[in-house]
Amino acid sequence: MLVSFQPFIFVAMSNELYIYNSLTREKQLFNPLNPPFVGMYVCGPTVYNEVHLGNLRTFISFDLIYRWLTVLGYKVRYVRNITDVGHLENDADEGEDKISQRARLEQLEPMEIVQKYTNRFHEVLNVFRCIPPSIEPTATGHLIEQIDLIRIILSKGFAYEVNGSVYFDVKKYAEYYNYGVLSGRNIEELLSGTRDLDGQEEKRNPLDFALWKKAGATHIMRWPSPWGEGFPGWHLECSAMSTKYLGTTFDIHGGGMDLKFPHHECEIAQHCAAHENAPVNYWIHGNMLTLNGKKMSKSDGNFVLPFDLTNGTPPLVDKPYSPLSVRFFMLQAHYGSTLDLSMEALSASDKAFRRLQQAIKDVATISPGATASDFDAQEWANNCKSAMNDDFNSPILIAHLFDAVKIVNACKDKKRSLDALQLTILKDNLNLYFYQVLGLDNPESASSQTELLDGVMNLILDLRKAAREQKDWNTSDKIRNTLQSLDIVIKDGKDGSTWQINN
Ligand SMILES: [Zn+2]
Repeated sequence: MLVSFQPFIFVAMSNELYIYNSLTREKQLFNPLNPPFVGMYVCGPTVYNEVHLGNLRTFISFDLIYRWLTVLGYKVRYVRNITDVGHLENDADEGEDKISQRARLEQLEPMEIVQKYTNRFHEVLNVFRCIPPSIEPTATGHLIEQIDLIRIILSKGFAYEVNGSVYFDVKKYAEYYNYGVLSGRNIEELLSGTRDLDGQEEKRNPLDFALWKKAGATHIMRWPSPWGEGFPGWHLECSAMSTKYLGTTFDIHGGGMDLKFPHHECEIAQHCAAHENAPVNYWIHGNMLTLNGKKMSKSDGNFVLPFDLTNGTPPLVDKPYSPLSVRFFMLQAHYGSTLDLSMEALSASDKAFRRLQQAIKDVATISPGATASDFDAQEWANNCKSAMNDDFNSPILIAHLFDAVKIVNACKDKKRSLDALQLTILKDNLNLYFYQVLGLDNPESASSQTELLDGVMNLILDLRKAAREQKDWNTSDKIRNTLQSLDIVIKDGKDGSTWQINN
């Protein structure tokens, strides 16, 4: 008789991390190959224009994952590439290189385009509090590795050269390996969806993809190779660079959902063809961001950039939002779910964020009481941890943080008291999750900003007190009304006046 096994209840309560693996399509216990070291590769941007808001969401999701792995004690080597060559306009190896095209339009050198948008990308990620990766390799900096990889794939018989270009032989590969293992697509289905494209006649099969493309006479970005002057195919760089920095098998590979096919499927194929083993143990894919219920699209005008949100750019953005509010908004959804951005949702999230921020400030001022209340601080802290260990479930974590906000507010209003141990657990964990895990500010800048505001407000309240003592009601009212318009409320009491940011 089979003994029934009920692991799932324990899963949620345990210290072990479970990750939804896109490859196996199930939540799996995370077992790194070489603990405490973890290798994580995330596909970075193609630096030919401003970083898209959907991409920002993906990078914030992996920032959360990186932070949590670090908090669990893992030493993570986080590699995120910069694609600065080889990404063509469409997935069928056709069209102009995106960077060359932009260089032509902006009348700049391709490498000026690369530098300009790499700088912008770093600026955006920094503003939205993403920790930089451990290594940020570029495709153009790894041409030797890419050419070597093509040589290996050719030598194993899974690629062929035609007229100075090299293509991956998908049909041959599928005789030995499962092409479609990640995306769940099969070759017959894929073939029925292909159409004849001009310039595809070099390929033996429409599903074959370029490892190396011959550069036409006018193509600017070109390098010498054993097959003549050309440039690498887009999928190749990630295989070459992940292997170089993380080894022939590594723990985590991530990216946006849209990269699952063909990009990641092709990465797996290249890698298996060359090294005869699967490259990655856990594949993680971040889901899409929509705007006002629809796919974001520049041509339809349904499109905002990250800095449009922080600048309050009309007509789609109603007012400026702080980058931390935007980050908080994104973390309120699980990385694997779609998220719809609307001004109503962002505004509600902004208010919630300020409530949480205020509680973080307030918890520092609470003194322990003599008696313990019925709040089980340790259980609450365990619940926070379990949420993150359950596939980095930030929305559940945030719900637990708001349970703590209620406790903090009750203590502040003297309706509840916590003993020293309860208070320490509450304070330490609120700070841990707010600052380190969710990355909703760094403690230094938060305390200095808070101190600055406190100092300015104390001065204003002193001036108002002096005005009232001299019965200068005009000045006193002006201070109160102006502050009110900034959502700062003054409360006059027996022991003097206090202030509070109104949520
Ligand atoms: Zn990639």
